[in-house]
Amino acid sequence: MKMKLHWQILIGLGLGALFGIFSAANGLGSFTRDWVAPFGALFVNLLKLIAMPLVFASLVTGVASLADVSKLSRMGGRTIAIYLLTTLLSITIGIVVVNVFQPGNSLPPEVTADLQASYVQEVEGREGTIEKIRDRGPLQPLVDIVPQNIVSAFGQNIRMLQVVFFALFFGVCLVLAPNEHTRAVKSVIQGVSDVTIKMVDLIMLVAPIGVFALIAGTITAVAGDDVTKALSLLSSLGFYTAVVILGLLLHVILVYSVIVHFFTRFSLKEFFTGIAPAQLLAFSTSSSAATLPVTLECAEENLGVRSEVASFVLPLGATINLDGTALYQAVATVFIAQALGMPLDLVAQLTIVLTALLASIGTAPVPAAGIVMLVIVLESVGVPSSGIALILGVDRILDMVRTATNVTGDAAVAVLINEAEERREAAG
Ligand code: ASP
Repeated sequence: MKMKLHWQILIGLGLGALFGIFSAANGLGSFTRDWVAPFGALFVNLLKLIAMPLVFASLVTGVASLADVSKLSRMGGRTIAIYLLTTLLSITIGIVVVNVFQPGNSLPPEVTADLQASYVQEVEGREGTIEKIRDRGPLQPLVDIVPQNIVSAFGQNIRMLQVVFFALFFGVCLVLAPNEHTRAVKSVIQGVSDVTIKMVDLIMLVAPIGVFALIAGTITAVAGDDVTKALSLLSSLGFYTAVVILGLLLHVILVYSVIVHFFTRFSLKEFFTGIAPAQLLAFSTSSSAATLPVTLECAEENLGVRSEVASFVLPLGATINLDGTALYQAVATVFIAQALGMPLDLVAQLTIVLTALLASIGTAPVPAAGIVMLVIVLESVGVPSSGIALILGVDRILDMVRTATNVTGDAAVAVLINEAEERREAAG
């Protein structure tokens, strides 16, 4: 019997981690960088390569098959409302855990000073981006949804939300203008969608190897040839890291498991096994966008989400529903404030809830995007953005875990919306 895909990926991940640690401990960092990591990059490139065509083709096909625009607006309204709600819950969980455990208060001042000194250059390197984010008005994310030029939107994976917008608009107009020509367009796009889905199948055949190389490469990038440095970083930021991961776990248990258990026909085991390949890939790539082709496939094939629902709910979720990121941004802000000895009152904590919601919506589904948008949250409560130096060292690990959470959240909502639509259709 052929081993299930998620086991294959998990084995790749475990072996990759062992290999990464072995190579860092034995000074083989540059070998891993030159000869192993590129296979991981190749695998991610393949996924990114098909993400845009897949999102466009499957979304247009999905919307066009609805044949009823009111259904789309109903589904859209509900999806967005649930996405906002789950994100607010995740931030609340984050705020609670960070206030209960107060990881920043137990960071010795000399470690704070050390971390700030060692990451000062990295923060300076990001200053340009930080400035740009600071200068954006509050409604800029809304303006950014509509691209000025669709070719350039297609050209950058971080612009996925713009492509989602265009695909929705295009799909709706395809429904509104039925004639022989538009029917031909629809059938061509349906064909493109079928082909890209086949591409996902083929790419996933090499997923275990890709994940092996990605994890080995990540460990090498973090630890280099010096495991002790990585370990000492982990020991000083271990408590903070654990608090973020605990918050993420609680969110998965309290929010997603409850959604799946009480509002869908799936058992938790069925849901988590069905979505496992996407979670593992999200963990390995730190990119919801690169994972999207696999999330779509898992939702449709393993969890029976209809294509018209999955192709709408999941790309939208990947771009606006980043619960893991929002939780992380809330915890990180309070942690930095604690470490810098700046108490945050209730108003400040409520401000964090609002700004983390907006910041997470504006975060692109790509690696390390969350820490850049964190600046918005920090600034909103007067914590200096240079404080990100304190947490940069462990950001990669947290990025992996929060991305897996982000993807799980999108899938849970996709299953929920799918069942709501099915019930509605059965009823009437
Ligand atoms: N890497 C995350 C994602 O792709 C975004 C983040 O940096 O938080 O979902």
